[in-house]
Amino acid sequence: MRLWSLIVVAVIATIVAGSTSAADPEIVAAGPSIGALVASARRAGLRVLESDHLVLITDRPARVGDGVEDLPRLFDEAWATWCDHFELDSAQHRQWRACGCLIVDRERFRAAGLLPDGASEFANGFCNRERFWMADQSNPAYRRHLLLHEGVHAFTLTLRGLDTPSWYMEGIAEYLATHRLNDDGRFVPTPLPLQAGDVEQLGRIEKLRTLRAAGTCPGLEDVFATPAVNHRDLSAYAASWAAVALLSRHPEHARSFAAAERGPLDGAFTERLRSSPGWDAERTARNFDALTDEIDYGYDFSRSRVDWAPGQPLDTRQAITVASGRGWQNSGWSLRKGERHGINVTGRCTIGLLESTSAEPSVRLETEADGISLRWYRGRPLGRLLVAQWVEQPGDGGRPRFVVLAEGGHGEFTAAADGVAYFKLNEPPGELADNDGHLTVEVGPK
Ligand SMILES: [Zn+2]
Repeated sequence: MRLWSLIVVAVIATIVAGSTSAADPEIVAAGPSIGALVASARRAGLRVLESDHLVLITDRPARVGDGVEDLPRLFDEAWATWCDHFELDSAQHRQWRACGCLIVDRERFRAAGLLPDGASEFANGFCNRERFWMADQSNPAYRRHLLLHEGVHAFTLTLRGLDTPSWYMEGIAEYLATHRLNDDGRFVPTPLPLQAGDVEQLGRIEKLRTLRAAGTCPGLEDVFATPAVNHRDLSAYAASWAAVALLSRHPEHARSFAAAERGPLDGAFTERLRSSPGWDAERTARNFDALTDEIDYGYDFSRSRVDWAPGQPLDTRQAITVASGRGWQNSGWSLRKGERHGINVTGRCTIGLLESTSAEPSVRLETEADGISLRWYRGRPLGRLLVAQWVEQPGDGGRPRFVVLAEGGHGEFTAAADGVAYFKLNEPPGELADNDGHLTVEVGPK
């Protein structure tokens, strides 16, 4: 836990109708050169900002501190990370440039011949090969995100010939565009954002949590089947981003997904992924459900990775160790639906550090099984011991998820399913790294 997070920050996810984008080669086939576009822009009195890999044309008036002048440099910094992601030699593509229009008044661009008819109906953004168009945004962080999202489209459409199902096209654009700025104002990729303040107005994590709470969150197969036309609302963007994040970051999937991404990014991409060596559809779908069940800022796939191994029948009382620095932990013991069990928990562990200030030295935050009432997370005290089972068909509907059966130092519970008992301490999944120690749980039939 971090010191600042003791101050409860309510983050309001605001509107984001995601950007639409498509690789329709009919629209601007063999369009004008970037030089010709720049000449048109200058003739029309539009601003032209340039870097190695971006020409940005805008009718937005110059305004000190709005960050627009920094966009081409940030685009170049992001571009280098996209080359890394796809293992492309940046030196070989050093001539590559995109041309983006950052638009306040679409009529000005149309009059200047910079907004073809087929490209003008987008909500937030549109990309066709190395050209993209985006509506100006009032929030600088969201403006940057949208610019980079369209930039990833331009990059993948041209350098990788991307023509995949829309979940990957939009998911990878979201994944590679997500970033924060460091203290020097430079681009730092954060495919899973660390804190809401880094990605203002993005709202994807909040959206997934809302969909989960409403029982309407898609599963992985739903995401794979998302029609392109659905990529006009935040739900589809959020779920596609989560799918790409899972497949790129989860230790079980990262290697084979990276291999698939090095192959053709065509219409058979999803099928090729499904038939890649070691692909287990049921397990991958469960990992995706486990991600959307727990998703939060700073989600850490290695610490939150779930071991789905079946356990031994729990017929006698057993002692198990629950590490404070991990997400749901497989106890190794399996329960039968309807059985009654009891827990008794002992021990103390730390769930973070209150960092030092000039007046106070740093303090380790200790907890026992009941948790600390100083701060709550998802309706329960931080650090509280939780017992759960993975339930494929929760009674309240919705996707499979962990159902909490018992909490705190003592208690009894009824098994909700045939399957393993999982344990963890209640804490945001992005704040596990500074925890230390474990609790000991005695669990067994009543
Ligand atoms: Zn897009």
